[in-house]
Amino acid sequence: MRGAQGEGGGQVLRTSLSLSASLGKPMLIKNIRQGRKKPGLMRQHLACINAMAEVCDAWVKGAVIGSQIIEFIPGGIKAGDYHFVIESAGSSTLVFQTVLPVLLLTGKPSRLILEGGTHNPMAPSFDFIRYCFLPVLRQMGAEFDAEIERYGFYPAGGGRWTITIKPAANYRRIEMDSQTQLLDRRAKCIASRIPSHVLVREKRQLLKRLNWPDESITLETVESPGPGNIISLQMNYQNVTEIFESIGARGISAEQVADRVVDELHQYQAIGAPVGRYLADQLLLPLSQGAGGSFVTGPLSEHSRTNIAVIRQFLDLDIELLEIEPGRLWRVVVNV
Ligand code: ATP
Repeated sequence: MRGAQGEGGGQVLRTSLSLSASLGKPMLIKNIRQGRKKPGLMRQHLACINAMAEVCDAWVKGAVIGSQIIEFIPGGIKAGDYHFVIESAGSSTLVFQTVLPVLLLTGKPSRLILEGGTHNPMAPSFDFIRYCFLPVLRQMGAEFDAEIERYGFYPAGGGRWTITIKPAANYRRIEMDSQTQLLDRRAKCIASRIPSHVLVREKRQLLKRLNWPDESITLETVESPGPGNIISLQMNYQNVTEIFESIGARGISAEQVADRVVDELHQYQAIGAPVGRYLADQLLLPLSQGAGGSFVTGPLSEHSRTNIAVIRQFLDLDIELLEIEPGRLWRVVVNV
């Protein structure tokens, strides 16, 4: 397996781990994250390897920080109770998404406790997992119960959440080909250990840009080991819930944090596809291992294309990419 293929990031590693474990197929992966400024394994990637090794009793060589090559020989997959701790605010949701496809194949329930970053930049947040990603997998037939106990923001981390996973006996094909009626929309401005005026200013800016009713935007102060701030916009359509997020950081004003997330929402609305760019790349593996399906999305990200290339190397299936409107709308069809 070439870790440098496509965009050459951590996703090549994560998807390969999931598929190697699912198929019981040993793999050697070289040039890991060659496309990134600091190539090789970072703590978050190592956490994914270790978690996957635990779930499938794998023999692993080369799993150290900075390593650009690993050998992974999976054993048998075990459903059950797991506790994964990701240090230094590494993303706990990416670890979850690595082991999930494998646990969904066991036919038996599992319960995970995850500790680490829950609301990180460049990763799905716990809210994205809970309200956007998992509902699609429920449509496929799996059941979940996810609860957050403590938020974990970059850089302090230290969040904690739990999830029970009940795989389906038979997975259903899903179709998300058009945007259905909007049922509800809401926004949350969440903060830990930062001045309260930040949330107030974020809300004021959201109200100015979105023209939503005042009560649809709530402010929440949460417990977390370190400071953090996130705005989360949730759009509930009949067939999908999409989440758009922006994380506060030093040097970025509250107004800018609000503007960024509104711009993301407006981009999504202008495209008019049900599946946003992040959900698109995250659905590819579950659909490929389930009963397949199709969805319409905006321009396919390099991340999605890389994921598709990796999946095609492991699985003998047909993933069609149909450009419905040049440069704007794509239909992805996964035929298993
Ligand atoms: P790296 O090698 O830099 O660690 P990576 O492949 O691990 O790269 P990214 O390419 O940044 O990381 O993407 C990680 C995953 O996080 C992708 O599946 C993407 O969909 C998801 N993701 C990133 N940002 C968001 C967001 N704002 N909302 C939801 N999901 C997101």
